Amino acid sequence: GEMAVKLDGKKLATKVKQDLEQKVSNLKQKGITPKLVVILVGSDEASQVYVRNKHRVAQQIGIETQDIRLPENTAEIELLQLISKLNADDTVHGILVQLPLPKQIDAEQITDAIAPAKDVDGFHPQNVGHLFMNDPRSLPCTPAGILRFFQEYHLPLAGKHAVIVGRSNIVGRPMAALLLNHDATVTITHSKTKNLRQLTRQADILIVAIGKADFITGADVKPGAVVIDVGMNRNAAGKLVGDVAQSSVDQVAGFLTPVPGGVGPMTIAMLMEQTVKFAERSVNCGRKN
Ligand code: NDP
Repeated sequence: GEMAVKLDGKKLATKVKQDLEQKVSNLKQKGITPKLVVILVGSDEASQVYVRNKHRVAQQIGIETQDIRLPENTAEIELLQLISKLNADDTVHGILVQLPLPKQIDAEQITDAIAPAKDVDGFHPQNVGHLFMNDPRSLPCTPAGILRFFQEYHLPLAGKHAVIVGRSNIVGRPMAALLLNHDATVTITHSKTKNLRQLTRQADILIVAIGKADFITGADVKPGAVVIDVGMNRNAAGKLVGDVAQSSVDQVAGFLTPVPGGVGPMTIAMLMEQTVKFAERSVNCGRKN
């Protein structure tokens, strides 16, 4: 049969980054360099790769990054003190603490400590609340990147039935809020959902974020649906694969994000966009005061 249209995250991320380069150069003319501080505690392998990628992309755009690496045995209070120092530093526009954190540190305490106006990940409860009230201030990067696909490819959201598989704080829940804000009818599913595949088959829009390779196959998808594959899993051969069995879903879906080259590059691009937005906001606040 016919194949799904690929939603090209690499291409779209490049476009976003080019727009940002221009914005950063405008800011620099006003004497402001957007600055993102990334804190990494411990030596988690995957986290090191993510942090490296974030630095590389920031550099391409002209965003200044500062890398703060703390030992695995860092005490929670030390990290809290560091965040409080960065909150007060006017040259810092975005603060990101790479998760997961070592066991002795309560991630929720850390999220709560970051100033909402510098919370580039959109994880602070205040920002989560604003998002749910349809007045977003800072959006979690992965859902923000997914929304951008719909805008770029002119895929309507209003009145569509969106089914989300997964309810994490970083993907599923904020994704649901964002789609609801754009007038979709939203169903959130998770590990306790009964007859999950009956629901996915009714989805005009299917967003899969659970971390299980090949979980969704063509038989679970409504013909013509928009399918967003958020998963990043390593298969037995060490290859990066999503949560969607791509070759079988390709035959049924109307639109599909590939892995790699779909949601991943957009997540990083949105992190950069948020950092630049915060830097722009700091200029505007300065003028008012
Ligand atoms: P979490 O592990 O935090 O959450 C997984 C969610 O999936 C939970 O809500 C869980 O349900 C649900 N789930 C697990 N198994 C099933 C099942 N059999 N049926 C239905 N629901 C199930 O994962 P994340 O949201 O952090 O990440 C999900 C995936 O997306 C991962 O592969 C991750 O690597 C990837 N990811 C990719 C990003 C990107 O930029 N491309 C960014 C962030 C994540 P319950 O709540 O009931 O336990």
